[in-house]
Amino acid sequence: MSLDHPSPKSYAMIIGGKPVLPAKTFEVTNPATGEVVGLAPQGTKADAEAAIAAARAAFPAWAATPDEERAALCHAIAEKLDAHADELARLITMEQGKPLGGVGSRFEVGGSSAWCHFTAEQKLAIEVIADDEKGRVELHRKPLGVVASVTPWNWPMLIATWHILPAIRTGNTVVSKPSPYTPLSTLRYVELMNEVLPAGVVNVICSDETEDNLGAELSAAKGVNKIVFTGSIPTGMKVAAAAAPTMKRMTLELGGNDAGIVMPDVDPKAIAEGLFWSAFINMGQTCAALKRLYVHEDVHDAVCEALADYVRNIPMGPGLEDSSIMGPVANQMQFDKVAALVADAATKGTVLTGGAPGEGLFFPLTLISGLDNGVPLVDEEQFGPALPIIKFKTVDEAIEKANAGDAALGGSVWSADIDAAKAIGDRLDCGTVWINQHGMTRPDTPFGGRKMSGVGVEFGQDGLNAYTDIQAVIV
Ligand code: NAD
Repeated sequence: MSLDHPSPKSYAMIIGGKPVLPAKTFEVTNPATGEVVGLAPQGTKADAEAAIAAARAAFPAWAATPDEERAALCHAIAEKLDAHADELARLITMEQGKPLGGVGSRFEVGGSSAWCHFTAEQKLAIEVIADDEKGRVELHRKPLGVVASVTPWNWPMLIATWHILPAIRTGNTVVSKPSPYTPLSTLRYVELMNEVLPAGVVNVICSDETEDNLGAELSAAKGVNKIVFTGSIPTGMKVAAAAAPTMKRMTLELGGNDAGIVMPDVDPKAIAEGLFWSAFINMGQTCAALKRLYVHEDVHDAVCEALADYVRNIPMGPGLEDSSIMGPVANQMQFDKVAALVADAATKGTVLTGGAPGEGLFFPLTLISGLDNGVPLVDEEQFGPALPIIKFKTVDEAIEKANAGDAALGGSVWSADIDAAKAIGDRLDCGTVWINQHGMTRPDTPFGGRKMSGVGVEFGQDGLNAYTDIQAVIV
């Protein structure tokens, strides 16, 4: 441990507006250095029950709070984020690894604040279905009750925002459960929220799952009316199974294995930067990152060369250093997974850059060409800094390969001809199609997966509506 951090700070759960510090804690480490960043609370099943009870107790008053007041408090949360932006960005960098600058943790805090403001301005309108001699029919939207939010470790604050803000905006109360790899920024975020919200409206609990698995507890609990879960497909399946006996509402944002298709009319040098960020944003640890690249044979070699040239100029280092554009992989579990997929693919294709682990959790940015469907690095979600490149001859072949597999989050087409690209996009079986870009999410645009990549959508009016049930009023 460095002299800068003589004793790591303990972070509390927040239940019913009060800090809860259990006797047991677990260490959260900086993936760049292995240093202990802070101590997270080892919550138990009893803490989950207390948090659900606190959220249930707060629900009636919060649901009855005037809409403008709830909107104003969502804006106030954004202001809290802005006021603590530097502290929160450093915390995210230290527990997750991403650099402070660029598309890193300052971007994550700023994006969360902007998302709070956007959500504050969203509305649930009463829809009039009929108003004639036969009567009047209105559709009202009612909050569900207690929403449980279970988040992953890749964009901890942004994803917590995506779950919590629309839930409270629409009159629900929340129990949040961050990933054990990155709990500190969410614990602090909820603490800040509690400086402006009534007690019990947003609660946060936490454990490292060596004892009680609090995500599983929340998925099964009778007192939880909806679970919004972002994570892997296998855990999503467990959540859905656990939630079924209580008929919980569910939004599941699960893993992806997004394909990009590069057509022969592109300028390889002009698209290299866009392709790079599409694949390597947050070290590739992004659900909607480009994870497989299909390139037409006419431009294949030129695209590989332009992309490899771009990759070679990207500095990698600890996230707290200003010169770092890429940081470490966020944890050992993910590092080992990426290393195994790359080691296998390196024996089957041509390594253009990277190809083997670096020091600690640093994994050099890896491009491997000469691969095809059937190789695990192509078929499975790598969720890390390694992009497989596959050469294709015909559009039909590229589309068939892109649509193979169970994941169907997003896909992209890269071409100078936008109409032709949209026609190819129309044949991609996935929740979002991007043209000449990949991975951008917007607060006004519904986002979700097809096939095994999820159930339901977040964002936009559809995303907001997902935190409500319809009540039809027939006069
Ligand atoms: P994960 O599934 O391992 O964990 C996600 C969360 O679930 C964590 O908080 C974990 O503690 C919790 N959990 C563990 N067991 C549980 C159980 N039995 N019941 C309920 N919750 C449980 O995923 P991860 O490794 O943290 O995140 C990476 C995955 O998330 C990738 O597959 C990625 O594609 C996906 N992801 C998807 C989106 C999206 O919007 N579709 C966004 C980000 C990440």
